[in-house]
Amino acid sequence: MSQHKMWIGGKWVEAESGRTYPVFNPATEAEIAQVPLGGKADVDKAVDAARKAFPIWSKKSQAERSQIAMKIAAILRDNAKELGAIDTLDHGTPVKTAAATVAGKAINFEWAAYNARSLMGHTVPQSPNELVYLQHEPIGVVALITPWNFPLSMILVKLAPALTLGNTCIIKPPSIDSLAALRLAELLEKLDLPAGTINVVTGPGGTVGGALASHRGVDMVSFTGSCETGKEIMAAASQTVKRLHLELGGKNPVIVLDDADVNAAAGAMAARQFSNSGQICACPGRFYVHENVYDEFLEKFVAVAKKLITGDPNDEKTDMGPLVSAEHRDRVEGYIKSGIEDGAKVILGGKRPTASPMNRGYYVVPTVITNATQQMKVAREEIFGPVAVFMEKFSSDEKVIGMANDSTFGLCAYVWTKDMARGMRFANEIAAGTVWLSNALSLAPELPWNGYKESGIGKENSLYGLYEYTNLKRVHVDLMTPKKI
Ligand code: NDP
Repeated sequence: MSQHKMWIGGKWVEAESGRTYPVFNPATEAEIAQVPLGGKADVDKAVDAARKAFPIWSKKSQAERSQIAMKIAAILRDNAKELGAIDTLDHGTPVKTAAATVAGKAINFEWAAYNARSLMGHTVPQSPNELVYLQHEPIGVVALITPWNFPLSMILVKLAPALTLGNTCIIKPPSIDSLAALRLAELLEKLDLPAGTINVVTGPGGTVGGALASHRGVDMVSFTGSCETGKEIMAAASQTVKRLHLELGGKNPVIVLDDADVNAAAGAMAARQFSNSGQICACPGRFYVHENVYDEFLEKFVAVAKKLITGDPNDEKTDMGPLVSAEHRDRVEGYIKSGIEDGAKVILGGKRPTASPMNRGYYVVPTVITNATQQMKVAREEIFGPVAVFMEKFSSDEKVIGMANDSTFGLCAYVWTKDMARGMRFANEIAAGTVWLSNALSLAPELPWNGYKESGIGKENSLYGLYEYTNLKRVHVDLMTPKKI
């Protein structure tokens, strides 16, 4: 079992309280580490360190900061296997994808490095005697508060733009999966950044995250997590009118039209539904399938789901590992139970596996629920687990658009059709930040990721996302000064 310290102000420190908390392996339920139980005093220390580092880091040239970002990209590639293995250990990420997921985030740093060097200001035409220019400046101290579903990657997508643009950062990793963040800080130590440029404070969201959100010394909170926590952060941050970036939950509709390529749709949607055990904000949340292709689609979807191998995340053959914690497994099982009580049917899975080694660990096998209706909890709330929810068959395009939009969420949507004009009409009508038309292609640092409605505020990735980590300043210059009298 490993013992850890936090990274604050360029030093490895224990929590001010001296207390620690345990971290568990979700595949074995074994305690694997003790991590400092940070609190408000530790947040104060980290904010102080980050504030002191800000004038030093922000005044370095952009070229220098971009070179650091390129070095971080190299560190991520060189250490992807080890960092991925940590995600496997404390999160249960299958080894098949763990290292590649971390290495993939190296591109975010390279992209930020290049684009930060090309961040352009403007001049705004005024009278010939007056120059007005706009420039982007770093904001200050940014708190990065992240969820457990991709423990390291969720930090990296925020750290890349925030740091490269000259902000100093306080990372508050998910408390149950904080080991990769601590190892990252160790790896970045050799860059010899000004003390306090990057800090990692471990501990519970309610105390560490809450203290960061309300702290006067924190200029921005960039948060990814649930809508409920996002609202709490908004309330806490309102006290100091902080810049907020919120990437929140989703209940993403999948619409399979009667002219869809059913094979392609079933394969791609099953892969996305069960990837990372369904613990992805972009996972399908509700399936609306046209009555003409419903039986064929469901049969093919179930066939793909049955072939997925659930098991030890360290086994190269495993497609689906455990859920992240006992608490989350119970939550997912609660949703399955509520679906049954409300009249939906479980036609696949719905159980814990019993065969060794899965008789320990927080496993739920791929599950398919059918006959869900619009008002059921399984159709309205985010399950965040390996549970596909099929709504009743539909026959009208107009009605299905209404049902897809009947949600407090608006993160993303999938529409399957061979008729792209019809698909684009759907894309125009669906209230979501991303619509995939007959595909489920991946994310990239140049593509914005953002939610409509309660799915969030602000954009991750893309030039839009880069600008969010800057303040915009307008400067007026009187070209006639000094005036001749
Ligand atoms: P939570 O909202 O529970 O937690 C996210 C982070 O916030 C954690 O670090 C948590 O700490 C912290 N936190 C908890 N309470 C507070 C508080 N009161 N103030 C400040 N910080 C707090 O989310 P989960 O970790 O459960 O992640 C799952 C959720 O994340 C899902 O809803 C999912 O949709 C969403 N998500 C959204 C994405 C997007 O891009 N839109 C991407 C990935 C996930 P602690 O770990 O200690 O509880």
